[in-house]
Amino acid sequence: MNKNIVIIGAGESGIGCAKLAKQKQFNVFVSDSGVIKPNYLNELKQMEVEFEQGTHHIERILNADEIIKSPGIPDSVEVIQKAISKGIPIISEIEFASRYTNAKHIAITGTNGKTTTTLLCYHILKKAGLNVGLGGNIGKSYAKQVAEENYDYYVLEISSFQLDNTYTFRPHIAILTNITPDHLDRYNYQFQNYIESKFRITMNQQESDFFIYNADDKVIQNQLENTNIKAQKTPFSYYQQVEKGAYINNQQLFLYNQQNPLNPFTMFINDFAIKGIHNCNNSMASAIAANVLNINKDTIRESLMDFQNLEHRLEHVATVRGVDYINDSKATNVNSAWYALESMDKPVVWIVGGVDKGNDYTSLLPLVKEKVRMIICLGLDNNKIHSAFGKEVDLIINTSSALEAVSVAKAFAANGDVVLLSPACASFDLFANYEDRGNQFKQAVRNL
Ligand code: ADP
Repeated sequence: MNKNIVIIGAGESGIGCAKLAKQKQFNVFVSDSGVIKPNYLNELKQMEVEFEQGTHHIERILNADEIIKSPGIPDSVEVIQKAISKGIPIISEIEFASRYTNAKHIAITGTNGKTTTTLLCYHILKKAGLNVGLGGNIGKSYAKQVAEENYDYYVLEISSFQLDNTYTFRPHIAILTNITPDHLDRYNYQFQNYIESKFRITMNQQESDFFIYNADDKVIQNQLENTNIKAQKTPFSYYQQVEKGAYINNQQLFLYNQQNPLNPFTMFINDFAIKGIHNCNNSMASAIAANVLNINKDTIRESLMDFQNLEHRLEHVATVRGVDYINDSKATNVNSAWYALESMDKPVVWIVGGVDKGNDYTSLLPLVKEKVRMIICLGLDNNKIHSAFGKEVDLIINTSSALEAVSVAKAFAANGDVVLLSPACASFDLFANYEDRGNQFKQAVRNL
């Protein structure tokens, strides 16, 4: 008899899984406790896949041989708890779809920099002429591509939630950009659980595979000491010379050359399209991946030079009367705001705040003291920002819209300053999401 597959969550990945599962002739049932978007409803109807919305029909779900769960759904919800106690295997889209392709996978995880590194790797592979798909947490569903395309390579952005329900997935190249506390509400407030989740990316790798990691990251280094990694370890570092990976010295990238280790590939970091230490890290990680795939050095160089990053990541919006306005709305945690502040070389008018996810701002204090002239809070509750930075910064002003924040910034910023929106917080107290926050900021700046 055909296996019963139940898919919980009818978003991009759920619909893609339904397509692939149907193609593989499983009995497929899709269940979503919310409202399914019209385009996804249409696809389900077209595929003739059975589904429900607004409820979970528990008995039917517990009849599954295997459940594919959307990464947005925590294990704590009732239906998942029941499935776990019944012993039904629960897997992610990544686990499911990777069973049906022989493509080589480049899988990218980490707290920050996933999207940027994923897009940069994809850009290099594409430029090198490889037959490559892009998926995971980004764009079109990976499972759908496995059903419809025939790629030789996949570059996948993978969150810890996707890794949690991955058991046999084996990327040829795994990249771990960094690990700092985030999403702890999903990990019993135990940082170690989150760290272990990130390391699942390498657990099935073999000796012929590669594990690319940030050697400057103490959390990663620590975990490496206690983990048996079979893959070839290829580190990158901004601060120290490392072997068989990549590092920066004197403003230059040095990339290991397997044919001639004494003659590494070099390139000035000023030529990188994306700036800042964090982006040097992302560029190094991507360059190592390309190197492992034997992509020619000119292609790597050109790709690092002409890559265009997505919006809302240290995006230069405009210079108005000598003041630069930068949109880093995607900086939704302390670590990403740290890198934004770190990369500023002018006095900063800093727009910060929103929904605090239990932030500890201590690590920002030295940078704020050194670079920030004033703070503009953009959130409903700004108390924590006042108490964290009140001693370092003389002027802190509360605002409650992007428009208001920009007009305060305009009033106080002097020629030669930079106005930086890098909130270190989630956005949903005042905005629909971080894109909405970034777009409203850009609109306000353009109207100055
Ligand atoms: P993710 O997909 O992991 O959220 P993004 O590439 O979208 O990562 O970047 C998210 C935020 O983190 C942006 O503000 C960006 O400037 C910052 N960032 C990007 N790369 C890094 C990195 N390697 N380390 C720390 N912060 C980073």
